[in-house]
Amino acid sequence: MAKIIQTKNLSKSYGKTQVLKNIDLSIEHGEFTAIMGPSGSGKTTLMNTLSTIDNFNSGDVWIEGKSLLDLKRKALREFRQKRIGFIFQDFNLLDTLTVKENILLPLSLQKTPVQEMEHRLAKLIAALNIESILHQYPSEISGGQKQRTAAARAIITNPAIVFADEPTGSLDSRSATQLLEQIQFLNKTFKTTVLMITHDPYAASHCQRVIFLRDGKIVNEMFKGELSEKEFFDRILTIQSAMGSDQR
Ligand code: ADP
Ligand code: MG
Repeated sequence: MAKIIQTKNLSKSYGKTQVLKNIDLSIEHGEFTAIMGPSGSGKTTLMNTLSTIDNFNSGDVWIEGKSLLDLKRKALREFRQKRIGFIFQDFNLLDTLTVKENILLPLSLQKTPVQEMEHRLAKLIAALNIESILHQYPSEISGGQKQRTAAARAIITNPAIVFADEPTGSLDSRSATQLLEQIQFLNKTFKTTVLMITHDPYAASHCQRVIFLRDGKIVNEMFKGELSEKEFFDRILTIQSAMGSDQR
């Protein structure tokens, strides 16, 4: 089977500044991968090009075996809506909608039948522990609950890939742990491929693989394999320290 994500010589510049430099990356179906690296190393740019939010200058990206260069604008939009879920640091929930309405929004936009929406919601409620807040508004719930709502919204379309840019960045450590465990659970249960940017070695230790970016290049990569989370954490920390202090 084709890799779910594959890039070859992927390069991108903003003006004269080359931000991504000949990146060759491949991600297997169902992998949970972290991207780490100093601030400005190109993590968000890489994620935005893979998720078709942003374009690239040269090289190619294949998603589920299809070259993004071959997809026209309409196909790209459809692909983004149906196959990709996003979780951002600042949640991006709509304040005037309840938790339930926020979660169902992507399905409403696709005009999914109500029964199907309720069915999919029911499956996620238990996994993400959000039953008690379904009828509350974002202003009435905690940061951790907001992020779980955002995770539910990202996953309710059954996306092939979830992209998360610093999803634990504005959470306290308990909420961050909960969210990471829930993402792990979604990854295992629904075989969703997850790509997560983080500067936090603890968050990264929940992944199966960590890719280190520096100055727009992949400079290191580690697999968890049979390591415990603690052992993986220690190794990530070692590499991160060796790469320099500014990791945000
Ligand atoms: P990271 O997420 O690793 O902190 P980014 O991908 O956000 O890094 O940014 C990588 C580099 O690209 C930085 O030098 C940043 O200033 C530059 N950059 C990012 N977005 C833009 C943009 N829209 N226009 C110009 N430069 C940008
Ligand atoms: Mg970033």
